[in-house]
Amino acid sequence: MKTLKIAIQKSGRLNEKSVELLKNCGLNFENYKSSLISPVSNFPLEILFLRDDDIPEYVQDGIADLGIVGENVIQETEVEVSYLQKLGFGKCSLKIAVPNNNTITSLDQLNGKAIATTYPVILGKYLKEKGIQSDIRTISGSVEISPGLGLSDAICDLVSTGGTLKSNGLAPFADVMSSEAVLIGSKGSENDDLVKELIQRIQSVLRAKE
Ligand code: ATP
Ligand code: ZN
Repeated sequence: MKTLKIAIQKSGRLNEKSVELLKNCGLNFENYKSSLISPVSNFPLEILFLRDDDIPEYVQDGIADLGIVGENVIQETEVEVSYLQKLGFGKCSLKIAVPNNNTITSLDQLNGKAIATTYPVILGKYLKEKGIQSDIRTISGSVEISPGLGLSDAICDLVSTGGTLKSNGLAPFADVMSSEAVLIGSKGSENDDLVKELIQRIQSVLRAKE
């Protein structure tokens, strides 16, 4: 019999809620932090624990049939996958922020300015749409300290409460995208009976929460 694979984040902001959702679907598995793969004892499913950045490609390539990941990561990796269900957690927005003492008050003023981000693809598309030419500086983390270090004039980063921006002397300036965790599947996976069964279980868990 066929066994499905679902990829979820190994550790980080989406791990706990992803595990909780699957458990609430009645799936029985050990949440081993040390292993990459966990079999489900009462459904033909295996859970793969991965870095979130790797999930879209694993699903696109069919190594995993399904995945739970932030919409931001899907858009940034530009993969071809099916969006199956919004999951209502991991909500955040990708925002451009500038130092509090900055004189930038309109998007136009970002022309020719350096913006540090870990989301160059999404930011690039956004700026292009707005007709703005900035110098996008791709860095892999701690984006919020880059203006203070003189490495950029602005940043584009994920924000949920805004606390991190504030404590780094930054103020949000423009909304680039809003995001939440979603269930994705390899193209065509939505026609699979086991996938349909799992989506139905997830939807009834989400409905019970409303
Ligand atoms: P990994 O080790 O798996 O690569 P990570 O450090 O890239 O993890 P996390 O910080 O755990 O990622 O964030 C995972 C996802 O949680 C983000 O891609 C985003 O969709 C969501 N998220 C929700 N709120 C926030 C926030 N305030 N900052 C960053 N991500 C957030
Ligand atoms: Zn990541």
